[in-house]
Amino acid sequence: MRTPVAAGNWKMNLTPDAAEALARAVHDAAPGLPGVEIVLCPPAVYLASVARVVSNGPVALGGQNLYWEAEGAFTGEISGHMLRWVGCRYCIVGHSERRHVLKETDDEVNRKVRAAQRHSLVPIFCVGETRQHRESGQMEEVITTQVRRGLDGFAPRASGDLVIAYEPVWAIGTGLTATPQQADTVHRLVRGLIRQLWGDALAAGIRILYGGSVKPDNIEGLVAQPDIDGVLVGGASLKAEAFLAIARGCRLRSCS
Ligand code: PEP
Repeated sequence: MRTPVAAGNWKMNLTPDAAEALARAVHDAAPGLPGVEIVLCPPAVYLASVARVVSNGPVALGGQNLYWEAEGAFTGEISGHMLRWVGCRYCIVGHSERRHVLKETDDEVNRKVRAAQRHSLVPIFCVGETRQHRESGQMEEVITTQVRRGLDGFAPRASGDLVIAYEPVWAIGTGLTATPQQADTVHRLVRGLIRQLWGDALAAGIRILYGGSVKPDNIEGLVAQPDIDGVLVGGASLKAEAFLAIARGCRLRSCS
C-alpha cells in the first residue's frame, strides 16, 4: 500500500505571519490525520520559521526549487545542502511554472533531481503537458520525454526516494481539473515508464501525485483512482480549512 501524500505548494504567497499561522493550523491538525503524509512547501524565506512550527510533528517540509551546485558564487540560488540544513525532506523540482515561466529545460530539471538525491532530499518531480500538446495528440510523447530526460541517471534505492507529480499545465491555477479518468490514464503511463526504468518493485512503490486545481470537492474522485497516490495542491493549500479537507480526502485512499 502506497501512503498517500497531500503536499501544499504555497508558491510566492503569504506574509511571514500568515505563513506561520497556516503552518501552525496544519501542524495542530496533522496528528488527527494518520495514514496521509502531509508536506508543506513554503517560499524559501519562510522555510526556517515554518520548520520551527512543524518540527517534532508529522508534517514534512519541502523546498519549491533548488540549484544543482552545493555552494559558491550563484547569486540568488539555494542548494540542496541548505534545504537540508533548514529541515527539508522534500523539494519540488520541475514545476510547470519553472518550466514555462522561468524557462527551465529538461536538462536543468534533471540536474536538480540528481542534486536533490545527492543531498538526501526526496524530489517531487513534476511533469505535465500543455493544452496545445493535449489537443494535438502529443500528451504521451511529452510526458514520456519529460520522464525519461528528467530522471536520466537518477537511481532510487527505495520507492521513498522519489515522488512524481503529474500536473497538466492547463489545469494549474485555472480552475480546470483533469477528470479522474484522464489523470489516472497519465498516471498509468508514468508508472509504466518507471517500470521500464527500474522494474516492478519500484514502480509499485513510487507515489504519483496529481496536481491541477485540486479542491475539497474533487479530491474524492481523484484518490479513488488506482494509480493516484495523493495530490500536489497550489491555491487551495493557502487556506488551512481547504487544505486539511483535501488531506482528509486523501485518507479515503489509505482506508480503502
Ligand atoms: C501547483 O502549483 O502545483 C498547483 C497544482 O496549483 P493549483 O492547485 O492552484 O492548480
